[in-house]
Amino acid sequence: MTVIIDGKELAKKIRQNLKIDCDNLKNKGIYPKLAVIMVGDNPASKVYVRNKNKACEEVGIEYEEFLLGENTTQTQLISLIEDLNKRDDVSGILLQSPIPKNLDINEAFRTISYKKDVDGFHPTNVGKLALGQDTFVSCTPYGVIKMFEEYNIELEGKNVVILGRSNIVGKPLIQCCLNKNATVTVCHSRTKNLKEYTKKADIVISAIGKPKFVTADMIKDGAVVIDVGINRDENNKLCGDVDFENVKEKTSYITPVPGGVGPMTVAMLMNNVIKSANNFGKML
Ligand code: NAP
Repeated sequence: MTVIIDGKELAKKIRQNLKIDCDNLKNKGIYPKLAVIMVGDNPASKVYVRNKNKACEEVGIEYEEFLLGENTTQTQLISLIEDLNKRDDVSGILLQSPIPKNLDINEAFRTISYKKDVDGFHPTNVGKLALGQDTFVSCTPYGVIKMFEEYNIELEGKNVVILGRSNIVGKPLIQCCLNKNATVTVCHSRTKNLKEYTKKADIVISAIGKPKFVTADMIKDGAVVIDVGINRDENNKLCGDVDFENVKEKTSYITPVPGGVGPMTVAMLMNNVIKSANNFGKML
């Protein structure tokens, strides 16, 4: 029988524990605050931002939102980030992606002080993760690792196959799994005979953004399958990258979509804001 990993419940438990940490900080006169910047009018981003706001409320983190219009210039965006970098009351800064194509998101991410980079996208934090040093780990990979820890799923010596090599999910996941002593293989759109890799994997983590791409014949019996994907199926229903109903018959552990990795991502963002407020940013 497979265990269905309950990311929603786990995320709730993490938020409850963070609330205690947040209250302790407030008792010391420290008020954690997340500043969120959104540029343009992306409906999916609005949902993500609303969820982050809700999670902040639950944990007791102060929240300030900056909604910039579609015609915002690079100079205006950079100048806002620089202001937020200087503000002592702001513990963490998050730039919601995507942003309009005429803007340079890499420069924007680079401008966010790495000491307030609660998304873990700044090159300094990416580098520190690669070096195995304490840093802000980007929230989705961090959420996946937390799931392994909470469900006592050992990574050491395991064959982990990651599908996808994006900067925000796939690549940081490589480091996170390596840091746990897994043997890591990364597949992407140019990988030939992808199934040959997944078939041998003890753990498959999919982050490619293709509905029901991972099918039962690609998975070995007893494997752990983590589905990062958030997609819409042919009936416009939310689904992951994994053909959940069929794949779950073969796995030892599997995450659903929704209710798997998604809530963990937001919980780990809250974790990073508390970590930043708790003087961590100054120690970097
Ligand atoms: P992305 O930037 O579009 O990257 C997708 C990756 O998948 C790329 O590396 C791409 O390869 C690879 N890929 C695409 N088609 C493939 C195929 N047929 N076979 C093998 N590899 C393939 O996406 P992302 O931002 O990482 O997001 C991936 C998925 O995770 C999306 O569904 C997104 O919505 C979801 N997501 C969920 C959360 C969460 O909190 N649960 C957070 C972030 C993202 P190339 O590099 O060769 O193009």
